[in-house]
Amino acid sequence: MCTVSFIPKDQGFYLAMNRDEKRSRSIALPPRIVTVAGCRAIFPREPNGGTWIAVNDAGLCLALINWHRIQRNPADEIASRGQVTANLAGAASSNDIADAMMGMTLHNLRPFRLIAIVPGERVMTEWRWDLELLTARRHEWERKHWFSSGFDETTAELERSCICDAAHEEKSRDSLASLRLLHRSHAPERGPFSICMHRADAVTVSYTEVVVSTECVVMRYKNGAPCSSNSVSESSLARRVAVSFRPAPRPIDNARRYSSNFRTGNSRHVATRPRQRTCRPLRGRSRGQAARHAYRFDRHQKHPTID
Ligand SMILES: [Zn+2]
Repeated sequence: MCTVSFIPKDQGFYLAMNRDEKRSRSIALPPRIVTVAGCRAIFPREPNGGTWIAVNDAGLCLALINWHRIQRNPADEIASRGQVTANLAGAASSNDIADAMMGMTLHNLRPFRLIAIVPGERVMTEWRWDLELLTARRHEWERKHWFSSGFDETTAELERSCICDAAHEEKSRDSLASLRLLHRSHAPERGPFSICMHRADAVTVSYTEVVVSTECVVMRYKNGAPCSSNSVSESSLARRVAVSFRPAPRPIDNARRYSSNFRTGNSRHVATRPRQRTCRPLRGRSRGQAARHAYRFDRHQKHPTID
């Protein structure tokens, strides 16, 4: 249960995330700077070490949300999805993420969507795991929102999309102030569908804001509902390498994009890596194939297999 907003800027981007959880869930620990795979990263964490959001000194940002619309559950013991984000926090490129995702054991994770933003490449990818397929969907480098809700995900998406569209009409729509206002919004009314969510059994438990520029990355974190007066902590890192943002890539069809720019689209690449022999891209098999790339997993097996 969450809302994630992405706003591109000339020299970077803003990302904001409301985390909605059961009131009974244990309180998360505030963000800390840690070293992961040689990268310095900032992220809050659950007591078990997992996290739902991270940014690192390469400017790479990850946000993980549940996917309630998919009703399937793992057959075996369920592991925490928070480990996915924590394990990827040291990634420096889209290829790093793709390699790690394809080598990861997913069969015991509930459905999720992982948004991965790589500013140096101007690439935004949404990884989706539905317990049968792992898919990667590339989004345009433009304002975007994601919503999830365990209460009524479809209605929550509709209601919250309307609120975001209305905010988009405002003059100051791309400012940080506007983003904060949006994430503390109680429209259409304070309740299960408002972006700052309040239910009897669940609530928005934290607000996290990420600002990435060519020089630094900043994470601000409020423990508690965005509408609360709780204090905000701030952590920052200098970018490892100050980079100039590339011009937006020329529009190309998705099939070409995957074959030319997206290394996971190369089946030979998959087949040559031992851990990745267990999955392969499914190309040209279904409607929508050009918009996404799928890797088939057998949900009844411990490890995915080549079919
Ligand atoms: Zn509120």
